[in-house]
Amino acid sequence: MATGVFICKCGGNISGTVDCEKVRDSVKGEEDVKTTQVPEFLCSKPGLQLIQNSIKTHELDRVVVACCSPHMHEEMFRGVVEEASVNRHRLVHVNLREQCSWVHDRGATEKAVSLVRGGVARARTLEPLEEKIVKINRDVLVIGGGVAGITAALQLSKGGFRVSLVERRPSIGGRMAQLSKTFPTLDCSPCILSPRMAEVGNDENINLLTGAEVASVSGGPGDYHVRVRVTPRGVDADKCLKCGRCSQVCPTEVPNEFEEGLYRRKAAYLPFPQAVPSSYAIDFEHCQRCGACVEACPVGAINLDDEEKIVNVDAGSMIVATGFDLIGEESLRTYHPEMRGVVNALQVERLIENELTEGKVLTRGNGERVKSIAFVLCAGSRDPHHGVGYCSGVCCAYSVKQAILLKKFLPFLRVYIYYTDMRMTGRGFEDFYREAREKGVQFIHAKPGGVTPLEDGRFELIVEDLDTGLMLRNPVDLVVLSSAMVPSTGTGELASRLGIALGEDLFVAPKHVKLDPISTLREGVFAVGVATGTKDIHDSVIDARAAASHVFNFVGDGTARLSPIKLTREGECDLCGACAGACVRGALTMGGEGPVLDAVSCNGCGVCVPVCPKGSLRIPNNSGGALLEEARGLLSGTEGDVAVLGFFDDNISYTAADNAGTARLHYPPNIRILRMPSTALLSKETILKVMGLGADGVLICEVEESYEAELAAKLVAEVGEALKGLGVEPGRVRLQPMVLPIFKMLPKFVSDFTEQVKRMGKLSPEKRLLLLG
Ligand code: FAD
Repeated sequence: MATGVFICKCGGNISGTVDCEKVRDSVKGEEDVKTTQVPEFLCSKPGLQLIQNSIKTHELDRVVVACCSPHMHEEMFRGVVEEASVNRHRLVHVNLREQCSWVHDRGATEKAVSLVRGGVARARTLEPLEEKIVKINRDVLVIGGGVAGITAALQLSKGGFRVSLVERRPSIGGRMAQLSKTFPTLDCSPCILSPRMAEVGNDENINLLTGAEVASVSGGPGDYHVRVRVTPRGVDADKCLKCGRCSQVCPTEVPNEFEEGLYRRKAAYLPFPQAVPSSYAIDFEHCQRCGACVEACPVGAINLDDEEKIVNVDAGSMIVATGFDLIGEESLRTYHPEMRGVVNALQVERLIENELTEGKVLTRGNGERVKSIAFVLCAGSRDPHHGVGYCSGVCCAYSVKQAILLKKFLPFLRVYIYYTDMRMTGRGFEDFYREAREKGVQFIHAKPGGVTPLEDGRFELIVEDLDTGLMLRNPVDLVVLSSAMVPSTGTGELASRLGIALGEDLFVAPKHVKLDPISTLREGVFAVGVATGTKDIHDSVIDARAAASHVFNFVGDGTARLSPIKLTREGECDLCGACAGACVRGALTMGGEGPVLDAVSCNGCGVCVPVCPKGSLRIPNNSGGALLEEARGLLSGTEGDVAVLGFFDDNISYTAADNAGTARLHYPPNIRILRMPSTALLSKETILKVMGLGADGVLICEVEESYEAELAAKLVAEVGEALKGLGVEPGRVRLQPMVLPIFKMLPKFVSDFTEQVKRMGKLSPEKRLLLLG
């Protein structure tokens, strides 16, 4: 064995807290460590060159890099060592930044020493592995037919990909279809969107499924199998002439959701004039099934017995473009003494489109003309106690737009904008803001806490002007809430079906906020538009085009390199089928001679490994023995204080720990995190032995509500019983279910657990011997 160890200073990010030379010296004397280097920036060109030159000079066959999170640069380092003829799976990436120097002050060097020792120990266990090149599906599934989903679908179709576009509403278009004009250029929103919608409708490469949602997902990157639930439309879109007779005779009226409830529509209805598919639909939730529409339809397009169906879609990759909703009224109660006279910003878009462009004026409930309007910005945003903590990003700009349009159509109107901060960044936005002021829109630096109804049906806003300190009372006819944008209803359920993570704000989490903002934490699944956070049309379109190029890179030539970290069998099989039963991804089926693996669907989680009664299954480079060797290294030098070993699943839990690092959230250095594909690979024996080797506590972090977390809960109970039998406190082993937003809580639960273990004290050498069996 010949290992090279490279410890990055990261321009002070690591060396500012960690004594890198001391860390280097700690492994220098190891027999198999042939070179140790401490460069300033390992990921720079000279740093990478140093690795490659060292591989040649010292004939290295494995490499340990100790630097930032493996989620940042691991793939790049693998490529670099591979170029210099070291097997890419013999690279170990140790995290000295996000999980050491950024989260500890005292004890950071000692911890870094153990982490690097753990890395060197792991390197010794690594087998060389080969990736497999497999054929993959080039088809793409796009979920959500707003401007982002539409743009992605069209871009992909132009690139020769077949796309299925799944939209839950009866028409594509999303929120942009509801807008009147768009900031900052005041382009007519339907005029720029409708041609693209029509293009989607006519594109032979795009299979459009409306009234549709993802019901389940199986398979894996390059070969996803998606069941799409399509609700009945009741109208054959190919036959419908859009004559509207069905709607004329329909006796049922309900609020029109496209018009944000301001107007009503029939149960037989056209979603909106430019709808695609260009067809009426039956709203079965409200339809009385009187049959009048069936009789009135001249082409027999209506079928009131239409039923829900499941459509199976196979795709190699997916794009999530599910957009947003406005925050629910329950978070805006203080602004809603009663609903009449207080409208949301989407309702203003519809009022501008339906009333003002038609040459009408706005009227109050009593028929009087609306003479004054107040916009309340940040309603339900930037205040976690009354809504969400983040800024919705586009409300300042669209409120200015709406104010300009209102002044244009109704010059007599008094328009007030109550703002916290005016955020008008972007090309042309400052001019737009200036234009509003020139048109007489009044900007008041204050956030009204509430809206008081007056006896005459108007509303009063009482505020302290933050610029002048004066208390202002302002009675107005209409109040507009520029309210927070939140992820579309059901984003959480969809995310768990797709196996992607959400951020703290509950929008889809990108793989890396800065360097990989379009990828999600699941390979082959990308996310765009407001699905990943509030943004305007311009940025949503950029996202969508970027996603198309990501898909191109991922499935471009119809092949993919599959990771070899997948199930292998190395022993007898008694054909019991337990492994196939355990696999939640449907990657294992039973054949005549044992389990048959669908390598594309297998993600190497290892849930099947512990259920094999013969112990014949394993995930390469992740055997119990390999875990123990790494743990031994991680626990070295922890004799003085209690040591906690954290087994973290690589996806959510490890990312949460990285996020805590990026946010510089400090926690006790006693914990050493061991990253693994999933904690399902742990066994009772491994945990007991890890405690025998030096851990005083074991913290298992696994994705909340997952099958792996269920297994981990059972394992913790089983280990607890075994510990009791040996006279050791069962509380030394704990399961922490994880979701990404929990990263802010990570310091607390790590501290709480460390304190608990401290109270129990270090395990005695006698107990450790017992635990080692
Ligand atoms: P959306 O437009 O929200 O589209 C998402 C689509 O996905 C919808 O069709 C939805 O039905 C569908 N969907 C959701 N969940 C699912 C699911 N689970 N399965 C299937 N389908 C699903 N931006 C500008 O640049 N200029 C402006 O003037 C402007 N004005 C605005 C005015 C207001 C009042 C508001 C609130 C926003 C405004 N914006 C403006 C922002 C703009 O609306 C967004 O940037 C844009 O709509 C984002 O597009 P999207 O495709 O990401 O999301």
